[in-house]
Amino acid sequence: MLVITTNTELNTFLKTIKKDNNLGLVPTMGALHSGHLSLVKKAIKENDHVIVSIFVNPTQFNNKEDLEKYPQTLDTDIKLLSMASDQIVVYVPSVSEVYKKEVTPKKYNFQGLDLVMEGEFRDDHFNGVGTIVEMLLNLIKPNNAYFGEKDFQQLQIIKKLTEIENIPVNIIGCPIVRESHGLAMSSRNERLPSQIRQEASIIYNTLKAAKEKFGTKSAKVITDWVTKVINDNPNFKIEYIEISDAQTLKPIKRKQKGKKYRAFIAVYTANVRLIDNIALN
Ligand code: AMP
Repeated sequence: MLVITTNTELNTFLKTIKKDNNLGLVPTMGALHSGHLSLVKKAIKENDHVIVSIFVNPTQFNNKEDLEKYPQTLDTDIKLLSMASDQIVVYVPSVSEVYKKEVTPKKYNFQGLDLVMEGEFRDDHFNGVGTIVEMLLNLIKPNNAYFGEKDFQQLQIIKKLTEIENIPVNIIGCPIVRESHGLAMSSRNERLPSQIRQEASIIYNTLKAAKEKFGTKSAKVITDWVTKVINDNPNFKIEYIEISDAQTLKPIKRKQKGKKYRAFIAVYTANVRLIDNIALN
């Protein structure tokens, strides 16, 4: 399996790709798990060539400790990818290869998609995400790029990014992969003590119950209920629970026919911040 670290090597590889071949890109920050691998497997099915990038992007971390503690498991990642296919190309650039001089994000206008939820609680997070994804898309020029619904807000923002920056690529959303007890897989789960990791199924269980209530109860009643259930467990503290239009990400006012809604949640436990979401209709 080809592992490359510089843009020069990357360009050399890109030149070997035939014009009519499809190229798929899966951007990641490494510490790979089955959630990432589901994106990789879909990309392998749908493309002649697949590049997986592994880069812990400093400009999307608003919390220094979160960046410092972010798990880095490159050797295991490479093994996992080579088990999926030895044809995958892994692009692992350094911070200086990506940012050259200044490690700062570009400023975007994501037309409000970035002002709620993750954007509200994580300053500049989506400017950082936009900066790295735009750079990867422009450098690699994939036909298809794969992103998980685990980060549903990010997925919507990347679709917007390609629209406002005119980047010709299909952005493909992939369903959330969960641990057996329901917790959405995340590289950050590795930082949870095992008992908390089990108990964290409370997040998905509460979201599933919220979905059941969505047919008959108001958004306010549901979000109050979710907040109480999570906060009643002393190991968990809710940061936000929102029920929003899945397209605009604006908080729901009144349910409207034909619109899709989702519940979004962020929870702190054992000094780790976890996010999840669920389609409500
Ligand atoms: P990350 O390495 O956390 O930046 O994630 C890289 C990509 O994998 C993003 O598009 C994520 O949304 C996606 N991803 C992470 N966890 C999951 C999961 N549990 N299920 C599906 N996709 C995921």
